[in-house]
Amino acid sequence: MHKGSCLCGAVSFRLRTEPKAVSNCHCRMCQKQHGAAFATYASLPKADLEYVSGQEQLTSYYSSEGVVRKFCSICGSNIEWSGSKKFPDWVSIAVASLDTRFDPKSVKDIHLESRACWLQKNEGQVGSDYT
Ligand SMILES: [Zn+2]
Ligand SMILES: [Zn+2]
Repeated sequence: MHKGSCLCGAVSFRLRTEPKAVSNCHCRMCQKQHGAAFATYASLPKADLEYVSGQEQLTSYYSSEGVVRKFCSICGSNIEWSGSKKFPDWVSIAVASLDTRFDPKSVKDIHLESRACWLQKNEGQVGSDYT
């Protein structure tokens, strides 16, 4: 069973089933919310996401009609989004919040129209430019 938590540890949860449909979302909303080039989400039925602690610390932000993004109000970690019109009973969780090893067979890149131009500029280079 997968377990996850936010940066400060107040919010923790577990997943009763293996999440599916893993995607790196490069949309502007995910970029802004995560402060990152993209956000990786995987989906599971809402009933299979169980909060162990800190559910009351989650703040909801409605980024577009019906879509709610939840994050820890203490540390700002993004945990989940839901409200897809096609899959109203499903929730997507931020894969990077998992504490257990999750190694999906495939990952899809979506919304590449807004892919950050600075993403993987140094592809293939090993080491640091800061030494
Ligand atoms: Zn937190
Ligand atoms: Zn997105």
